[in-house]
Amino acid sequence: MNASGLSSDQLKLQARVRELAAGPVARRAAEVDRTEQYPWDNVELLKDARLLGMTIPQQYGGQGKNWLDAVLVIEALSAACSVTGRIAVETNMGAISAVMAYGSEEQKKLAADMVLSGDKPAICITEPEAGSDANGMTTRADKKGNRYVVNGRKHWITGGGVSRLHLIFAKVYDEKGNEEGIGGFLAIRDETQGLKITKREPTMGLRGIPEAVIDFEDMELPPSALVIPPRGLKKGFADLMNAYNSQRVGAATVALGIAEGAYQLALDWSEKRHQFGRPINEFQGLQWKLADMSIKLRAAQALVYDAARSGEGGFPDMLLAAQAKVFTSENAIQVVNDALQFFGARGYSRELPLERMARDVRMFTIGGGTAEVLRNVVAGALLKKKLPQTRDGWGKA
Ligand SMILES: Cc1cc2nc3c(=O)[nH]c(=O)nc-3n(C[C@H](O)[C@H](O)[C@H](O)COP(=O)(O)OP(=O)(O)OC[C@H]3O[C@@H](n4cnc5c(N)ncnc54)[C@H](O)[C@@H]3O)c2cc1C
Repeated sequence: MNASGLSSDQLKLQARVRELAAGPVARRAAEVDRTEQYPWDNVELLKDARLLGMTIPQQYGGQGKNWLDAVLVIEALSAACSVTGRIAVETNMGAISAVMAYGSEEQKKLAADMVLSGDKPAICITEPEAGSDANGMTTRADKKGNRYVVNGRKHWITGGGVSRLHLIFAKVYDEKGNEEGIGGFLAIRDETQGLKITKREPTMGLRGIPEAVIDFEDMELPPSALVIPPRGLKKGFADLMNAYNSQRVGAATVALGIAEGAYQLALDWSEKRHQFGRPINEFQGLQWKLADMSIKLRAAQALVYDAARSGEGGFPDMLLAAQAKVFTSENAIQVVNDALQFFGARGYSRELPLERMARDVRMFTIGGGTAEVLRNVVAGALLKKKLPQTRDGWGKA
């Protein structure tokens, strides 16, 4: 797949990453899935290729690349190994971009240094009783003298146990117990007492990155750990969630990359595999399937690139990011499923990557805002209304 409108630098970047993806990254993908081990060697590859923290401004050691540059990298990597694609998302978007936009100088330096040296930050929002309705979170940070004391539980935290830097969302209370809003705190695992990884979720796919339950038990943090956007704590969650639009575009890109990888495998196989004395791509039923797959991918890619471009100088537009994620995540599942069908029984075998891709791609209508919740975001933006079933920060910027 290729979309028009890429600069010559972007085409070069894309070609360079495609080569890396097709070589060492692709060779490790099955093993990463089978062993469920975080691919630290791929992190080193990304670091050496200067693909970690590309979006970090140059003054903090990054390259100041734009969202579309990051998308091209994520797309190419995900076609070979979705776990490696996700590492590229979370070292260029999401928590790191929130800190780089809203953090203090000290916080920006800390986060940039950690990411550039190979850390994939974790973003901790979801709780057992507060998923789509994140405003219902009960993790709390109580101001006590010159520190905050954090208590609560988060679950399904990507990277729990491998990530060091954590951006933890909690309801903030002043000394008198008055709620001040939802704040994001930076904490480093292994350097912060009371931050405990208590369970690894047994996931369907994307098995090379742990999804974890994290408990905060009287975790003490200084006020300097709190990331405070310019509009203050009351609007802080909305602002920090605005940064999350970049992560949403990144998640859509992983789904796109997986589906493109599966489509290419199906296209190649359709020429190689003969039945009834001819390549199977001479059957019109499969030709139309290929046509439909390519149309879905082309449309998804256009939406993703467009959403990425909308973030020039800031964060991707909330409406475009939501539209891109809903369309891409749902269509990518269908494309991978169709690609698997091309292989007949072989597609169902763990010896080929199709079954892994089918498990991996299934996640993207769930994590980072479900397709249903993002449809609420789209509807709210179209109707210019704060819908009752959306929460601050998702229903409005
Ligand atoms: C692999 C993976 C990685 C993740 N990584 C992270 C992470 O790093 N950090 C983090 O904080 N979270 C993470 N999550 C959690 C993810 O963001 C939540 O799962 C998601 O927000 C949905 O919350 P929930 O699972 O509690 O589902 P629920 O909110 O309980 O939703 C259940 C169902 O109800 C629907 N629903 C809910 N509200 C509405 C509504 N208003 N209108 C229509 N339908 C609705 C949902 O769409 C869904 O189908 C991850 C999840 C997965 C699967």
